[in-house]
Amino acid sequence: MKYVIIGNGPASVGAIEGIRRYDFDGAITVIGKEKFPAFSRAMVPYYLSGRVSYEKLSIRNFDYYTERGVELCLDCSAELVDTQKKVVFLSSGTEISYDSLLLATGNRSRQHNFANCLQDNYYDAFSLTDIENLREKISVSKRAIVLGDGVEALSIAEVLSLNGIEVIVLCQGHLLPELFDNNCSEILEKRMLGFGVTVFSDSTIKKVVKSSDDKLKGVLLGTGLFREADFIVNAAPGKPVLISGIDEIVSYGSENKFIMSSEDASVFLSGNLINKSSSFFASSYNYGVCAGLSMASVDMDIKNVYKSPVRSINVFGINISAGGAVEVDSPKVEKLEYIDKDNCLFRKLFIKNNELNGYCIVGDRGFAGLYSGLLRSGLKFDRSSALFLLKEGVMSFFAENNLYPDLLKS
Ligand SMILES: Cc1cc2nc3c(=O)[nH]c(=O)nc-3n(C[C@H](O)[C@H](O)[C@H](O)COP(=O)(O)OP(=O)(O)OC[C@H]3O[C@@H](n4cnc5c(N)ncnc54)[C@H](O)[C@@H]3O)c2cc1C
Repeated sequence: MKYVIIGNGPASVGAIEGIRRYDFDGAITVIGKEKFPAFSRAMVPYYLSGRVSYEKLSIRNFDYYTERGVELCLDCSAELVDTQKKVVFLSSGTEISYDSLLLATGNRSRQHNFANCLQDNYYDAFSLTDIENLREKISVSKRAIVLGDGVEALSIAEVLSLNGIEVIVLCQGHLLPELFDNNCSEILEKRMLGFGVTVFSDSTIKKVVKSSDDKLKGVLLGTGLFREADFIVNAAPGKPVLISGIDEIVSYGSENKFIMSSEDASVFLSGNLINKSSSFFASSYNYGVCAGLSMASVDMDIKNVYKSPVRSINVFGINISAGGAVEVDSPKVEKLEYIDKDNCLFRKLFIKNNELNGYCIVGDRGFAGLYSGLLRSGLKFDRSSALFLLKEGVMSFFAENNLYPDLLKS
């Protein structure tokens, strides 16, 4: 069997690991645009702020690939796929044949119609080139508008604010809609205000306003408000990165949530590519594992493989994490919510059959792993214990129930 994976982000790594769980002999080739192995977009804001070097953008080293018998084709782009002949054509002129192909090429911003007239006042925040361009702009600017409601927009807004830029985040709904309701978004918005970042929920740009010398002056919002800005960063994903030859065969009636099938049984799509909104690193990795297992023809119940990984982000000095099922809208699932706006604390627990089924927490620094442990343990607890966990947090819950005493000691 010859597997080819296009893309070298977390979904690609997940796919390698999914394949190698069952197939130790099949040849795997990974094609990636960046110069280094498995690239993490989540590190990009740190790179922009200078906290990590170019080399540290990598989440796996070369040995990782050698040990798993994976051939790397880096610093090149897959330009075209001939699905009849089962061949991928690279920018370098090389042709690579496959038996099973995965597209793990991610997602990018959907362009706004005002982008073309803004030239060097409008940026994406996805590729390394975008970030290099943005770095130059930051050094000569004072005010920015960031478009988006997800992890990408929050990370970029944080870096800009730490560089002394006054930032406005514009989102169509509220922040992190995949995890939060409006109440919780407000906690984060308040926190961001302390960093000089204002969030305008339910806002869109009606018109961009330019000065007589053709520079961006600001934006007119749908509400009629005018806001000054030197540049706009579009950090709202929405456009899958497809490759010629594949776009025609993608069937958007996906067979499940984690892998998108195509009309061709030997072509798979996974990771952020099949996610229309913002997605977390760990979700993409797990999507990739599911795709890898399918490529290796493992007959499985995907829902059991995809055990809701911890999705987390640390922005503006607070931790935000979620695990398990957090969008559950079922009468069998009880949602318990605790908000302490003054201390920037939020917990939402999803209880099903007297077990923790999902959680979303803001502010419980570094404890996401403990909530996840509780989730996986299947520990049964009654309502009063659930309320105790909600109000006092996981450490107090462990102490109260004498759980993991060794962990508490350390
Ligand atoms: C600025 C920013 C900050 C973020 N912060 C966080 C965070 O704090 N926490 C978190 O959980 N998530 C964060 N994320 C989201 C997370 O990075 C994504 O969910 C994750 O990277 C998606 O993984 P993926 O493998 O599906 O796609 P990607 O990581 O986008 O990888 C796609 C890969 O495909 C390659 N590629 C595309 N086209 C081609 C081609 N034609 N040929 C060859 N290679 C190609 C790309 O170069 C890239 O290597 C952040 C994202 C951004 C942009």
